[in-house]
Amino acid sequence: MTELRLLALYPEHMNIYADRGNLLFLRRRCEWRGIPVTIRGVGLGEPIDPDACDLLYMGGGQDRDQRLVAEDLQGEKREAIAAALADGAAMLAVCGGYQLLGGEYRLGEETLPGLGLVDLRTEREPGPRLIGNIAIEVDLGDGPRVLAGFENHGGRTYLGPSERPLGRVLHGHGNNGRDGTEGVRRGKLIGTYMHGPLLPQNAWLADRLIAWALERRSGGPVELEPLDDTLERAAHESTLAAARRGRSR
Ligand code: GLN
Repeated sequence: MTELRLLALYPEHMNIYADRGNLLFLRRRCEWRGIPVTIRGVGLGEPIDPDACDLLYMGGGQDRDQRLVAEDLQGEKREAIAAALADGAAMLAVCGGYQLLGGEYRLGEETLPGLGLVDLRTEREPGPRLIGNIAIEVDLGDGPRVLAGFENHGGRTYLGPSERPLGRVLHGHGNNGRDGTEGVRRGKLIGTYMHGPLLPQNAWLADRLIAWALERRSGGPVELEPLDDTLERAAHESTLAAARRGRSR
């Protein structure tokens, strides 16, 4: 059976609000199905082999950690990530990681360079941090579904005209608290402000990422065996209920 090769970008620096839980969950869902899985991490100053990763993951981070990571991503690392995606790898980037997918992250006088993989920019504007439970409606091609999670970001993100958001905000703030969009999606690349961690309470998205990643080397569509998601569904319902009690659009 094809192995899932997962690459965690900067697991030391980009991992807040339990974002590491997404990696554990991906691993477990593969193991429960007998799919071999390897998880490797890449840190500051270490190279990326674009042929050796099917799913790339970057979690959230504080501004100071993003500073270190933003510099380190420029050049060869950026090219390696772009090459992996162009060759069919999938990627999930959460919050601080999501902000670095775009062209730049502006923090007052300072501008952090981004990966420039998608047309978006992020800005630290005056105003409160955007914090709370969040629910969004998403359609990845098989009808509308709801993702539930938690957001906490000072940056506001704006998508360029050619980009599609990951979803539409039902409850919470989303990309910027104004335009009702949340995240970005281009092909097998997903960026989102949702922590929680995101995947254990939205198990279908974890499976989608696993299937997308496995397709890179299996050559065709991948059907995953269903699992008993009773606990995951309960976690989803509880976060969704919390989001409903919060801010609605
Ligand atoms: N430092 C970024 C911000 O505050 C991202 C925070 C995060 O990853 N939760 O906007």
